[in-house]
Amino acid sequence: MGIFQRLFGSAKKPFGSRANADAADSIVAAMRARQSAQTSGTFETGEKSPERILCSDNDCPCTDQKSLVIGKTAYLYISQGVVDFRKDCLSILERDMKIQKMGRDLSPSLLFVDGGVANPFYLCEVGARQRRLNLKVALADAEQVAKTGFAPLRPTPKD
Ligand SMILES: [Zn+2]
Repeated sequence: MGIFQRLFGSAKKPFGSRANADAADSIVAAMRARQSAQTSGTFETGEKSPERILCSDNDCPCTDQKSLVIGKTAYLYISQGVVDFRKDCLSILERDMKIQKMGRDLSPSLLFVDGGVANPFYLCEVGARQRRLNLKVALADAEQVAKTGFAPLRPTPKD
């Protein structure tokens, strides 16, 4: 049993289908994730192929909790705060380490300003319009994130 397995062995269980993945493998995967993010100008969101997408915009007045459809009704909001926060932690692993480190000196609630700075979020058309997002770009970004698990490292343009 490798050192990483011994250190992180107990943390493997909650990840469902990935339960059998070796922890050392996931560190290698994180390094690969950062590398591909760096070369493509993206950051890892870890939300590849989500089963169900709901509007996660707290400022959106929608209440129907309808599932959003990729390429049709699902939009993505990448705030300037997300870009600023993620530019030095492109992979999920680095992000989580940064959050953990921040947690020691800062209030975690800071992470949830404007829907959170750790990750972009999906929202419905009503929410996207309310934020005056460029709908075409926000739709394409949602599609990219769902397909690849990586989002562009720039804020969603506004109309
Ligand atoms: Zn909404």
